[in-house]
Amino acid sequence: MSMPERTTLLTGGQVLRNGTDVAEKLDVAIGQDGRITAIDRALIPAADTKVIELAGKLVVPGLVDMHQHLDKSRTRRVVSNPEGTLEGALAGYKKLAANVTREEIMERAERTLRACLAHGTVAIRTHTNIDPETGVRGVEALVDLREQWRGRFTLQVVAHVTSGATRMPEQAKQWLDAAAAKGVDAIGGVPAFADPPLEFLDMLFRVAVEHGLPLDMHIDEHLDADRQMLDALIDRTRSFGMQGRVTAGHCSVLSALEPDHAKRIADGFASAGIAVVTLPAANLFLQGREAAKLHPRGVTRVRELLAAGVKVSAASDNIQDPFVPIGSGDLLEVARLTMVAAHLGLTDVETSYRMVGETPASVMGLGSDWGIQVGARADLLITDAEDVEDLVTSGSLARAVLIGGELAAGSL
Ligand SMILES: [Zn+2]
Repeated sequence: MSMPERTTLLTGGQVLRNGTDVAEKLDVAIGQDGRITAIDRALIPAADTKVIELAGKLVVPGLVDMHQHLDKSRTRRVVSNPEGTLEGALAGYKKLAANVTREEIMERAERTLRACLAHGTVAIRTHTNIDPETGVRGVEALVDLREQWRGRFTLQVVAHVTSGATRMPEQAKQWLDAAAAKGVDAIGGVPAFADPPLEFLDMLFRVAVEHGLPLDMHIDEHLDADRQMLDALIDRTRSFGMQGRVTAGHCSVLSALEPDHAKRIADGFASAGIAVVTLPAANLFLQGREAAKLHPRGVTRVRELLAAGVKVSAASDNIQDPFVPIGSGDLLEVARLTMVAAHLGLTDVETSYRMVGETPASVMGLGSDWGIQVGARADLLITDAEDVEDLVTSGSLARAVLIGGELAAGSL
């Protein structure tokens, strides 16, 4: 996609600019570099400006998917998981991983990326397997994909040490160093699979500090209160000086702790600047299958974390693979699912919208590049929804996505 040859003016839209809760009738001017140059009422176009009349359509910043696994995406048909458990998914994927090629990984990842873009997502952080079968092959593929899409889609790659690699600490450290040398954006992994888990957690912190990268881990994906590492995570975040640079994925076990303990954890996360990502599709699919009755949801305590002031994002996690066989790439569907899975209320609709936009954009450090503000990239979602609440509650069939001010999906 080439950059716009001339300036563009979006006029007559209901625009949700940064720092406001309600969309207003505003015009948005976009420069030749694809960035927003002005936001105001009734901007006057220059003679050669391309004017797009939006007739009251809702204009919001593109959505941000804080946690995906593009390297495994769309393997549902080639990997089985008859039990529907996390262990079953890991065992199934392991068989494929031994022979999966970098080209296959990239091809499937790109299909999902395009589906996400068509639904309005403009940035994805993707956790990419480092395991004994693939080593850093997946990381290389995703870093390549990130570079191929640079300027057209924001990808962040997390080096995600998982599966058998969590029980090979020295080799895992070498793979992480290699991934850092390839230019990954964050360090991650699943310390809960390691033995002993806390030593592995410490290793991940050391590697992150060494390479000056943020940490984004799957801190748990189970409901066993005796194995929780949330206190340890708060402790390490402080002792390694990583405040504001740590993200905890899932945190399912928080729902299994006593309320007073969970409250202490939520307060500790807030004061240590630990962000949380909830992944309701994966939790609802994988967790709690062993229960004989009253199956738990497996979702973390979203309301309590929000009340404590923790930055909580909601994200897709796996899309159409043995971990989660479904997924359209529509983050608004994830926001909607979060409403019911996390027992949010009727007054929380806008909060769930922020969980797939403003909050992950902030945690991923997209900064002044993102959002509807002067200087930001004009990566926008334009729909016929009444307002952002409507965007979440009913979704929207008519979507157009602009990337750098150019139409990348849908029609206007
Ligand atoms: Zn995940």
